[in-house]
Amino acid sequence: MTPGIKPLIAGNWKMNGFRNSLKELQAMGEGYDLVMRNRLDMLLCMPATLIYTAALSAVGSHVQIGAQDCHMNAVGAHTGDISAMMVADCGGSAVIVGHSERRTDHGESNETVLSKAEAALRNELMTIVCIGETEDQRKSGETLKVLEDQLSNSVPNDFGEGKLVVAYEPVWAIGTGMVPTVEQIAEVHNFIRDHLVGRFGDSGQAIRLLYGGSVKPSNAVELMAIANVDGALVGGASLKADDFLGICAAYGTLED
Ligand code: PEP
Repeated sequence: MTPGIKPLIAGNWKMNGFRNSLKELQAMGEGYDLVMRNRLDMLLCMPATLIYTAALSAVGSHVQIGAQDCHMNAVGAHTGDISAMMVADCGGSAVIVGHSERRTDHGESNETVLSKAEAALRNELMTIVCIGETEDQRKSGETLKVLEDQLSNSVPNDFGEGKLVVAYEPVWAIGTGMVPTVEQIAEVHNFIRDHLVGRFGDSGQAIRLLYGGSVKPSNAVELMAIANVDGALVGGASLKADDFLGICAAYGTLED
């Protein structure tokens, strides 16, 4: 946690979810009561096919709906892509860019991720820029160098208050059940904070830093208590309301 920053728990449904899965979203909205709303922001990043319906079904629940990627252009001949403007038009208020699955599966470079983040911010979307090292990079002691490169080249310079979020997701921890030690996460999050403060001053101090990679209800309390961890980006455990709300409940434990 960082004093003065309201945590964000963001879910990433990836290529999962059909219209009947929205009952889980509804249950999340019901569990996201006033007490929880005062403690944290809740966001679900849906597959593109569900953004509009999810945004409609979330009206009144205070749960925010987002996308998992966007194109850097607003409109045009880009078959299969969706733009940040389209996300906003569907009722989305946020987008993830630079997830490691996009960087790997679609060959997205830091420069591509930067352009996408800039497009998202132009459209007033909360923009979650993902960074993280591979297992080989960690083993060869390159973690901080890789992260410095990703931060310098995929995090935009201009952003509104509360609109930019950085998610640290070690690639080797995503969907594997493996989680870095508390010390490893603390080292990285302090490093990211130092980079952002060095670059943006007070605005860098206010940027939310999420940890992502095999977050579950059973490890959330320990992970969310780490300094400069201002929430989580959650994959698998965001698909079921019980799991996702269980992660959110970590903040009740921390504050009590
Ligand atoms: C993710 O895809 O961003 C992620 C962190 O996945 P998981 O929680 O399943 O490891």
